[in-house]
Amino acid sequence: MPLISCPECGRQISTQAEACPQCGHPNQPGKQFSAGPRCYACSAAATTRCQSCGKLSCAVHLQSIYVSHGHGGAYELRCESCHSTAMVWKVVGWIVGAIVLFFVLMFFFGMMQ
Ligand SMILES: [Zn+2]
Ligand SMILES: [Zn+2]
Ligand SMILES: [Zn+2]
Repeated sequence: MPLISCPECGRQISTQAEACPQCGHPNQPGKQFSAGPRCYACSAAATTRCQSCGKLSCAVHLQSIYVSHGHGGAYELRCESCHSTAMVWKVVGWIVGAIVLFFVLMFFFGMMQ
């Protein structure tokens, strides 16, 4: 468990503690994390960022997804919200593709008769 020193009495207290057990000085969780960029989902240091929205993230909270661009595609690292949005659009794309394919086939079968 990470320890910080109480700003009032200097005693080592847990970062999770609500107040210093010795002098009762309130511990402000989050304040000690102000230095340096942090992950959008947890308190870990941000080492990378979402390639879609640019949200700062740790390695754990980014998921790689294969996205197709104009020519071919590439793997991108995305935050959870961008990842789920991309997944929804993929599924929507498949459904639309299946419907279009169905109507095209119906059209050709209609022409053959
Ligand atoms: Zn104290
Ligand atoms: Zn994280
Ligand atoms: Zn994102």
